[in-house]
Amino acid sequence: MSVEVEANLKVLQSKINEACAKANRSPNEIKVIAVTKYVSVARAVEAIEAGIEDIGENRLEGFLNKREAINKNVNWHFIGTLQSRKVKEIIENIDLIHSLDRLSLAKEINKRTEEIQPCLIQVNTSEESSKHGLSINEVIGFIKDLEPYEKIRVDGLMTMAPFTDDRDVIRECFQKLHSLRDEIKQLNLPHAPCHFLSMGMSNDYDIAIEEGATHIRVGTSLVGNEND
Ligand SMILES: *Cc1c(COP(=O)(O)O)cnc(C)c1O
Repeated sequence: MSVEVEANLKVLQSKINEACAKANRSPNEIKVIAVTKYVSVARAVEAIEAGIEDIGENRLEGFLNKREAINKNVNWHFIGTLQSRKVKEIIENIDLIHSLDRLSLAKEINKRTEEIQPCLIQVNTSEESSKHGLSINEVIGFIKDLEPYEKIRVDGLMTMAPFTDDRDVIRECFQKLHSLRDEIKQLNLPHAPCHFLSMGMSNDYDIAIEEGATHIRVGTSLVGNEND
């Protein structure tokens, strides 16, 4: 096993502990998803052997490739844009879809799955036009519209912070997602328990944890980037 991934995970865990201490949270509340989109199956396996239990991929090919090759008991997260016509190829055994952002996709998932599918709604908290996801003010209406799709369960919200060095701007995005999550929770919709907040990547997971993240999605600083 490479020492590198193990060492990275140790650093990550100590930074998680630090952020949790600052925010008065327990590290047990934080799920680390290793994002393996830039690395090989072998590197993903190293992360699992170092203790990672959750793997995230953002493209269909990468997801299927890893899931077929990795014969271990891990949770699978789909974190990228999902095309409706590809749903049938991938839908079996996705533990959490982080990128539900339109009714046509919900309809297709509902049609193709046998079981309840846990989903997060992707929210464009930075309002950057290049980013996917619903605007904050569209989310509650969208969730209400999901009610007829009985296999879709909204377990929470996901966002990506903007590309900026301004940590206050990033923090503000995470705070917005958190308060939106609380607002949705209070609606007590049976199909939208909405307890999760998937936010924070290599550069900003510490801020995300301080602002209530339950799932952080860490690629580069954990498993590296083998394309570099
Ligand atoms: C690539 C990716 C990540 C991980 O990014 P890093 O900066 O490498 O940690 C997290 N979330 C999503 C949606 C991604 O596409």
